Order: sequence, then structure tokens, then C-alpha cells
Amino acid sequence: MKRILLSISFLLIGITGLLAQIKSPDDFLGYSLGSKFTPHYQILAYFKYLAAANKNIRLISYGKTYENRELVVAVISSAENISRLEEIRMFNLNLSKAVAQPRAVKQPVVLWMSYNVHGNEASSSETSMKTLYTLAMASFGRSKEWLENTVVIIDPCLNPDGRERYVNFYNSVAGIRPNANPAAREHNEPWPRGRFNHYYFDLNRDWAWQSQIETQQRLALYHEWMPEVHIDFHEQSFNDPYYFAPAAEPVHQDITAFQREFQIIAGKNNAKYFDENGWQYFTKERFDLLYPSYGDTYPLYNGAIGMTYEQGGISAGLAVQISSGDTLTLRDRIDHHFTTGMATLETVSAHAGLLISEFGKYFERSAANTPGNYKSYVIKADNMSRLKKLAALLSKNHIEYAFGGEKTMSGYSFETKKTMSFRIQRNDLVVSLKQPAAVLANVLFEPETKVTDSNTYDITAWSLPYAYGLSAFATKETISGAFAALDEKAEAPDVAEKPYAWILPWNGLEDARILISLQRSGIKVRLAEQAFTIGTKVYPEGSLLIYRIENEKINRDISDRIAAVSKDSNKAFASISSGFVQKGKDFGSSVYPLLTIPKVAMVADDNVSASGAGEIWHFFEQELKYPLHLIDEKDLGNLELPTTNVLILPDGEYLRKNIEKLENWIYRGGKVILMEDAISSVTGIKPFEIKKKEFPVSPENENLSRAYKEKNEDNTADAIPGAIYKINLDHTHPLTLGLGQFYYTLKTNDQIYELLHKGWNVGVLKPNALMAGVVGRNVQKKLGDGLVFGVQPAEKGNIIYFSTDVLFRSFWESGKQLFTNAIFLIN
Ligand SMILES: [Zn+2]
Repeated sequence: MKRILLSISFLLIGITGLLAQIKSPDDFLGYSLGSKFTPHYQILAYFKYLAAANKNIRLISYGKTYENRELVVAVISSAENISRLEEIRMFNLNLSKAVAQPRAVKQPVVLWMSYNVHGNEASSSETSMKTLYTLAMASFGRSKEWLENTVVIIDPCLNPDGRERYVNFYNSVAGIRPNANPAAREHNEPWPRGRFNHYYFDLNRDWAWQSQIETQQRLALYHEWMPEVHIDFHEQSFNDPYYFAPAAEPVHQDITAFQREFQIIAGKNNAKYFDENGWQYFTKERFDLLYPSYGDTYPLYNGAIGMTYEQGGISAGLAVQISSGDTLTLRDRIDHHFTTGMATLETVSAHAGLLISEFGKYFERSAANTPGNYKSYVIKADNMSRLKKLAALLSKNHIEYAFGGEKTMSGYSFETKKTMSFRIQRNDLVVSLKQPAAVLANVLFEPETKVTDSNTYDITAWSLPYAYGLSAFATKETISGAFAALDEKAEAPDVAEKPYAWILPWNGLEDARILISLQRSGIKVRLAEQAFTIGTKVYPEGSLLIYRIENEKINRDISDRIAAVSKDSNKAFASISSGFVQKGKDFGSSVYPLLTIPKVAMVADDNVSASGAGEIWHFFEQELKYPLHLIDEKDLGNLELPTTNVLILPDGEYLRKNIEKLENWIYRGGKVILMEDAISSVTGIKPFEIKKKEFPVSPENENLSRAYKEKNEDNTADAIPGAIYKINLDHTHPLTLGLGQFYYTLKTNDQIYELLHKGWNVGVLKPNALMAGVVGRNVQKKLGDGLVFGVQPAEKGNIIYFSTDVLFRSFWESGKQLFTNAIFLIN
């Protein structure tokens, strides 16, 4: 009996062994791929399952999203490569650091494929499962051979929060059968749509800035690997045929001939498969290579071949009728993305040796011959808060820098746009382009980006000194800083035994966080609107003041509370023993107003720009760490001052009847901050005084010579995809505290406003203010002069107008100061 049992169990083991094949996505999920949208946890589960079932797959968990979803990549290659994966990774990484190395016997090339960075481009993550399974089974073409010289990294979903938002929406509105009618509600995704992450950021605009947690964690992993090729899988409007590289103009001049050439090689192989199937595609149109924060340009500026692939599919659901009359299904979309993925692997494998040697040469060349017109950049330590943030940004991008050097030299001034003499001082930040990351550094710093064609997809200017509001010089001489770190030895502040008042600086966001802590501890804080001198010491305008007696009345332990905040923030506060000043106004003057504690609400509903609202929401929660109440526009009539005294209207279109409800709330002491197009919604409504400048179209501005073949091109005379303008400031207004001599704004439209008659024209554009970027000639004429931001008092309240996006993609650091001042310093 025993023997029989034993042989039965052997038999069973034998059968199970035969059946223990790896489950396909269909088998694992219980439905055929493309017949449903797969929730993120199932995609993760399948990737983990495959990694457990196949020894040639390594799974790397690299972080969590804001909504706590796991981020992973799977690495797949031949058994031999996987067994020495760490050695391969290090060899590859050293190439990117221009470290001389022994010739490896068999160094494979690294191909990284990213799926679903835009959450509602949902066929991508479905494709990633098919791709990893196919590679595990070696069931496509000669994929087994391809993996012998290629390491493939697959990120199934870069933006799980956005994808889940889309998939949940779709599943909740679709019927038993998909409705292919484009008018059906399943093809009409509600605000804020799944494209964005939790804070409504476009993660495909965030690569260099790394403002979002998903990007930060992914880029940390990216810089551990530095792939030779990176593919970013997207979807576009469902009526569009497939797009793959080669890309359209403009192509940044630092992108090398080899990088351009390889895009053509890869494109031709993709085309071969598409031709066989009779599928439609286009190349060399629409998708350019300029702005540095995309999933194609960022890898290109890091020595890789970066390419974007776009399937038609946004809002297509499981099936949709397209303009040709055909029905496009999720299965079709998966097939197309799967095919370009495999074709690219084939191309990469066929050119593995070439890709590796060109990758190595790229960094050797970068370190030896500097790209662009300059050899070094010097950023002045005008504002330590923003300088440190700039240093942190460079570190995240693996760009080398140093500080100081005590040298007088000449260079191109970002402020005057002229060559002039300047002196490097101890804390000035120096970026020498003699480094492996020279191209990326040059692209981020160069004062003017050369654009071959203005018909571009995104902004055309982003130079960091302007975005950070720091003066800077570009030099033709190679210089390297003398010190690895900043000298932060501060002079010990004056300390009084029995303080009359404490004095705090106001230079950056960390000072705002101190103000927040003080106000949270119940401490009354005042603002010095003007500079004052006590003894020999000059305290600048913007200093915060805490009067002891005024506070002791409500807080007997005021000294202890201040000591606690000082300790937490690691900053020593000055204190003085008398309110009598040598120069300036005494402490009883009205130039030291008491600061109101802001209780802030923001409209976040489907009439506002999701990105505009998201930037503000993210800034409050992640940078200021301050509560922000998100409300609907229809509730604007319900604002009560004790709970809401600051209202932010993000870029958007608001209804007149709702705006009208704000009048009394403002008169009684409410503060409204209007961002970008929100201003258009309030013109002509009491108490808003702002007026847009109107420009009649003169016949000479009409483009009557336009040829039919230009039908798909924007009229370049009217274009302003994103350029930088210099703004003159009223430095006596508290809105400008902590800023530099000028504010540099990113301008993305041609709107400009009349100067305020009953308000403060704090930020004004004057003639010849264009600093960098493409601006069509008609727009240039309009942007001659006018108001860009201002403050209009209205009885006890205030209205603040910001006509440009001061929090642009969370990397316009000087704008954050402006915005913070508006929240905390304007009463
Ligand atoms: Zn996309």
C-alpha cells in the first residue's frame, strides 16, 4: 500500500512538474488581457508572481506613491547576466562617470522601458505584463538571444495613483459591454482626470525638477543604472495613429549626431513591424526634443537614447469608434505597444556593442570638451535659502558643483545680458562644465536655449538662475570652486537679557515654517515693513518682530515658547532690550503691522486648471506643511472670516454669480489671491479693479501669406510657448521681501494688465524685458509694458493679482517666495 501511495505521489509530482509552467497574464488574471482594465495591485501581483516563478527576473521595489501604492521595476536578462547583475550595473554606471575601466568580456546594454507615466494612458501598464511574460517565456522572435546581450528594465506603472483614478472611473461608469460611441460617458473622463499624480502634477514634465515623490524615487534608481536606452510609453488622442521616433524639431543642439541617428535606426525597425501589419504611424512630427524634463529628453541629456512612443488611446476605454469608422480596442493598443517594445529590444540587441561604446564616449567627451557657449556658471549667493535649494537640485541630478574661489573675472551676466566683470565670493556656487554631467548642466543653466523651430510642444526657457531668482554669470573660462561646502558660520545674533523684542529674518521658506510654528504656539508676530538700526546693527525690511509685553499678556511663558521654536528650527533668534531705534521707525510705528494668521481656502473643482490647483495644494502640504481647505466654487458665498480669511482662486474660469458673492467678505477683511486666468473672471465685478490691456488686431498682424501646407502649424507670430521676462519690483512693498533685484517670470500667454489706479503696482513689465525663450513678433509687441502682479486694498480686505504662474511645476523657486509673502505678509 505504502509503495502504491509513494508511486502515486511520484506520479503527481511528475504531472505537477509538467503543469508548472508560468501562468500567462490571462491565466493569472482570470480574463484575457485587454478585455478589462487591470487594477494596479493585480499588475504588481503579476510582476511579483513572474519574478518568483522565473529566476531570470529580479524585482526591485523602489518606493511608494503619495497614495501609498508600491513602485517597482522588473529586471530581466539571460541567466548568465542575472547571475552577475551587480557587476554589470557597476560597469555601466562607471561609463556614465567617465571612469576608465577594463574592457568587460561581455558587457550587455541596458534598455529601460517605462509604462503609464500618464495614468489615463492605460494600455501601457497592460502591455508591460505581456512584455515581461513574453520575455520570461522567450516566446517572441529571437528574444532569448536578445537577452543575452541586453538587460531589460521594465517599470510597469510610473503613476499608479493617476492610473487607478482612471481605471476606477472607467469601471464605475461602463456597462456590461463597452460602448464604442465616442459620446458615451465612459469616454468623457471627469476632472482632474487620471493623467496626473495625486497632486495633479504631470510626471512627464518633472524628470529634471523631481518635485514629486514618484519622480524622486524613480530618478534615484535611474541614476544607479543609467541605461543606454530609455523608452517612455504614452497614449495620445484616440484618433491619432501611432507615433515613434525619430522626433520632430526642435531638437536641442547638445543632442548628439549619434543620438539622432539611433532614433532613426530604432524607428525603421518599428516601422518594419508596423508595415507588416498595415498599421498606421507617423514620425518626425509633434514630439520635439527640447524641454529637459520629459522621459525622452532627460535620458538624452544623460547620454542615453531617449524615445517617446505614443499609441492613440486617451479616453478610448475598452473600445471606441475612431474617425475612420474603425473600432479601436484596448487589445489593439496593447498589440501596438507590445510590438514597438519588442522591435526596440531587437534593435538595441543588434547594436549592443555600438550603444555601449557610444555611451562611454559620450561621458568622456562631456568631461573633456564642454558643450554649449560657456565653460562654467557662477551663481551668486544672493539668497542662501534658494542657493541651497539649487545645490540640492543639482545633487539630485548628479551634477557636480563647488563653492567660492575669491577671484575677479569677466562673464556674461544673466541680469544685464552683457559681459561684465564680477568677483566670485566664498559662498557663490560654481558649476564647471568639465564633468560627465556637462550636457545636462549646460541645458539647465544656459541663459538662452537655441530653438530651431518655435512650433514646440512646451516652454522654451527654463534657465535655473532666472527660475531661482539668483544673479549669475556664464564664463568662457573653466573655473572650479574652491570649497565642497558652504560656509554657514553666522555672526552670533545680539541677545538681550530681558528682551523688549525678538527679531527673526525672512529670507526663505524655512523662515515661513518658523513663522507658522510661532503662530501655532499662539505667539503674535509683527512684520518690519522698513529697515531699522539698533546700535550699529541694521535689520533689513522683512524682519519679523515679537514684542515681549504684547505676548506676555496672553502667554506668560513667551520666552520658553520662543526658545522651543528656536531649538526646533535650529536657528538662533536675535533679541533687543529697547524699542528705540537709531535709524528708521520706533517699534510703536504703523510700519510694524501685526500679522494675521492665515486660514486658507482654495477652489479645487472642475472649473479650475487641475495643474494650477495641484501646484498650490502640493506647495501647502509638502513644502509649507500648512493646512489648505479645498472647496467648491459654488460655496464661495459661504466663506466666514473666522474660518477663512484667505481665498485662492487658481487658474480657471469662474462664474460671475459666484465671484459677486465675495464682495462683502473682502470688505470685512478677506484676502483673495487670483492666479493667472482667474483674473479674467473678475474683471468688471466689484470690488476688482483690474483691467486687461486690449490690443486691436491691426491688419499688418494678420498672417495673410500663410500657405495651405502650414495648416497644422501654429502661427508663430502669435506664439509664446513659455518665455522668461524681467519684472521690475516695488521693493518697498512686502510682497517682494526675500526676492532679488528683479523677478523673472515665466510667461506662457500674451495677456498683460493695465496699471492699478487704486492699488500697488508691485511687479511691472517694462519695454525690452524679454530675457529668454521664443516669443512671436505679435506677442512681443503686446508685452511692451503693463502690470504682471499687484495688490489692491479694498476696505479691510486685499486683492492680490498674479497674472503668471508663480509656482510653475514647483521648480520656479523665486515664485514660491512671492506666493508665500502673499499668504503670510499681506494683511
Ligand atoms: Zn502621455
